[in-house]
Amino acid sequence: MRTIEYKCNREQIPSKKSGSTKILGFVFRAAGTGGWISADDGSRSDGSAALMRKKRIMRIGIFGGTFDPVHLGHLLLAEQCREQGRLDRVKFVPAAAPPHKLEKQVTPFAQRVEMLALAIAGHPAFEIDELEKDRSGPSFTADTLAELQQRNPGAELCLVIGADTLADLPNWHRPDLVVERASLLVAARPGITPVSLESLKHQIGLPEHACVCCQIVHIPLIGISSTDLRTRVSAGRSIRFQVPRAVECYIEQHQLYTSQGHDAERV
Ligand code: ATP
Repeated sequence: MRTIEYKCNREQIPSKKSGSTKILGFVFRAAGTGGWISADDGSRSDGSAALMRKKRIMRIGIFGGTFDPVHLGHLLLAEQCREQGRLDRVKFVPAAAPPHKLEKQVTPFAQRVEMLALAIAGHPAFEIDELEKDRSGPSFTADTLAELQQRNPGAELCLVIGADTLADLPNWHRPDLVVERASLLVAARPGITPVSLESLKHQIGLPEHACVCCQIVHIPLIGISSTDLRTRVSAGRSIRFQVPRAVECYIEQHQLYTSQGHDAERV
């Protein structure tokens, strides 16, 4: 038997008869299906048939990062968020001007995008969204989410992040808007102590009763970071099996992260 969790968007109570469910202007989700489903036409139907017929709310994963370079930790995180978070698609959103890296050298946007394209090639649910490319100033996630909401009306946005990023969220530009505009899919990262939602709300300045949607996603702990990969390449050490082979070849071919080929830009 299917368990259905209701979230009323009108002040109505579901009436259940044996084997059937009357649905009147609710969004609901059934265990094992993921996502919220609109059912505004007041029809009476069998629960599972309703799930097939009614429009399912699209869940879009938003995975922001510098991706300098993209590595297997990123890909594993995105894939597990897709599966455990029941996402319809995952948008990789490379930061044009990462706010926390304004003083650092970052590989040109186009090359980071090319490496991403090589890394996700062939995955039907993964795509790159370059929407931060043309925005002037720092790439704030709150602005990115607002733009994505406009472009995907009715979709639920889910921000894909590692535990280090969650801990840093209170330092972001308008973190209150970030958690209002997206639910969070968070995975552990080696060496990072997880923050509790209560402490996060407190740091953001949200009241205790505020609702922050957060799902923990389980991934094998993998201690790969872009910083370590850049250091390895510049020291002539191996990055094999830490990035997709095509990305490794790209780095070699374009002499990224070496002193000879160092054409990173200050963002
Ligand atoms: P850098 O070392 O340059 O800071 P990074 O490896 O942390 O880079 P980013 O592009 O800054 O990669 O990270 C994008 C997102 O991916 C962040 O939310 C980060 O927490 C997450 N992430 C990166 N690497 C891992 C990993 N190994 N395990 C879990 N999450 C990760």
